[in-house]
Parts: sequence; C-alpha cells; structure tokens
Amino acid sequence: MPSPIYKRVLLKLSGEALMGTRDYGLDNATVRAIAEDIKGVVDLGVEVCVVVGGGNIFRGVAGASSGMERAQADSMGMLATVMNALAMQSALERTGVPTRVQSAIPMSSVCEPFIRRRAERHMEKGRVVIFAAGSGNPFFTTDTAAALRAAEMRCDALFKGTQVDGVYSADPRKNPNAERYTTLTYLDMLARDLAVMDAAAISLARENKLPIIVFNIHEQGAFTAVMQGEGRFTTVV
Ligand code: UDP
Repeated sequence: MPSPIYKRVLLKLSGEALMGTRDYGLDNATVRAIAEDIKGVVDLGVEVCVVVGGGNIFRGVAGASSGMERAQADSMGMLATVMNALAMQSALERTGVPTRVQSAIPMSSVCEPFIRRRAERHMEKGRVVIFAAGSGNPFFTTDTAAALRAAEMRCDALFKGTQVDGVYSADPRKNPNAERYTTLTYLDMLARDLAVMDAAAISLARENKLPIIVFNIHEQGAFTAVMQGEGRFTTVV
C-alpha cells in the first residue's frame, strides 16, 4: 500500500456535500460514505481534522436577502454547521473513529469550545477533530474558516471535497469541453475567478503556503486514494 503523502490534513466538507441527491438537509447514506472514506485516511496513520459547512441548511446571504440582518443570519448559518458537525461525528464514531467536535461558538453542553492546543492534542491521539461554527464571525465562509484552521493546526494540506474531481475551466456538468487542471497556482485561481473557494480562503492558504487539493468527495475511496497520490485531483500551490 503506498504511504500517505501528508501527515496532518484538514478536510473541508461543504453542506452540499452532505446533502447527497436531496435538495435540503442531510442524507444519511452520503454522510456514512464520507465517514468511511475519512476512516480510510485515518487508518493510513494520517492526522485528520474537518471543517463542515452549513449551506445544506442555512446560508447567511440568503437570510439577508430576505430581509434579515446579515450578522444575525450568519449566526444562523454557523449554527447550521454545528448540526452538520454532530451528524458527521455520529457517522464517524459508528465506523469506530474517535472524534471530538469543537465549536467556534461555545455551547458547552453540546461540544467542546474551539481551543487550538486541545485540538492539537486530540489529533496527536488519533482523534478526528471536527471544527464547527466556522470562524465564529459573521461575513466569513466556512472555506475561509477551513484555511484558517488548517493554518492554525499546522496542517500539511487543505483538502476540498467537491462534486467533481478537480478544478475545471468551466462547470464540467454543463460544458463537456471543460478542461481539468492538474496543477494551478493560487494566483491562477484568484485571477480566473474559478468558483471553487472564495478569494479570502485562497489568499489565506497562499500566505501560509498551504497546498489546496481539490477532489471528488462523492467518489467512494477518493479521499484515501488522493492521500496516496492516486486518482484524479487538482493541486493548488
Ligand atoms: N458562516 C459565518 N462565518 C463563518 C462561517 C460560516 O457567518 O466563519 C455562516 C454564513 O452565513 C454561511 C453559513 O455559515 O452562509 C454556512 O457556511 P457556508 O456557506 O460556508 O457553508 P458551505 O457553503 O460550505 O455549505
């Protein structure tokens, strides 16, 4: 079995990734399949932490466009990510992987608050740490929170699980001529405005020399394969 390329990684899962073919909320079979793939990576001896999004439940921008105050709506979005984090925790523990959820918005009867050094200790002990509530601040996204946590946790790479197997010149589900890139620079991503991650997240990754690996989260085993340098993915450096 090829050895893993990285020792410590952060996996960013969007809310959409947990939705499967549904148009709202969580699809248990999808969440279980992702948990199995994370277990595959943990079994390789890689330290894994996860940032989950909340777009399958609530997005601040959508709340604001229907008349809510943006900061209030973003708090709701962050609470949505906590629900997803708990669902992912439950699925991971069913596969036998020990986990902890840490929330950027403290809610002590549900999960731990975010404490970087404690998170680090959990990871050293082989626990998967799931970071919930994004950065804890409105006007940010969970992509930016993922780049932030990956930098704080001194991860070797940020894995972004998407609906397709890398970064394309156009949406390959709509344009059959879309070209898939194997490697891109951060500046390419910013200049071409490729809608994979927001600019704040890419800039933060760039400043911290954090490679971003974009792969298909719905292809069973892809996270484990990519961790061993196999399969299809795009590396942003
Ligand atoms: N959010 C926030 N601050 C953060 C991260 C997230 O206010 O640091 C809110 C924001 O309203 C966002 C929602 O949480 O719309 C869900 O996160 P996101 O849209 O990033 O989820 P994803 O697209 O990954 O499912």
